[in-house]
Amino acid sequence: MKNISSQIQNEEDCLFCKIIRNEEPTDRVYENDDFVVIKNKYPDAPVHLLIFPKKHYVKHDTLRGKNTHIWEGFYKTVSEVVEKLDLWDKYQLLVNAPGMGHFHHEHMHLISGKDVLVK
Ligand SMILES: [Zn+2]
Ligand SMILES: [Zn+2]
Repeated sequence: MKNISSQIQNEEDCLFCKIIRNEEPTDRVYENDDFVVIKNKYPDAPVHLLIFPKKHYVKHDTLRGKNTHIWEGFYKTVSEVVEKLDLWDKYQLLVNAPGMGHFHHEHMHLISGKDVLVK
């Protein structure tokens, strides 16, 4: 089995952490104490947002049941941003598995404005 830890970005190299430290220019849509919401630079839909905690939680942990408290913050942030952007009842949330090439900093995709992908 491959050494997974060698594939996990540290906070120093993590794009999302750089965005939070303002070292990377981005289009911030919303922010609260613990989470940031940005526009995806490479959108797959008319509205394609990325929601992530300001702290570096890695997918390998969160998707194995660690740090479960962050999910409450995710959904709280989702409800705030859909309220702000008036997206109630017309959005989808997506959490990707930590495959190769995907960001390890836990995040959700919020997609809206195109035909529903999964029913
Ligand atoms: Zn990070
Ligand atoms: Zn993703």
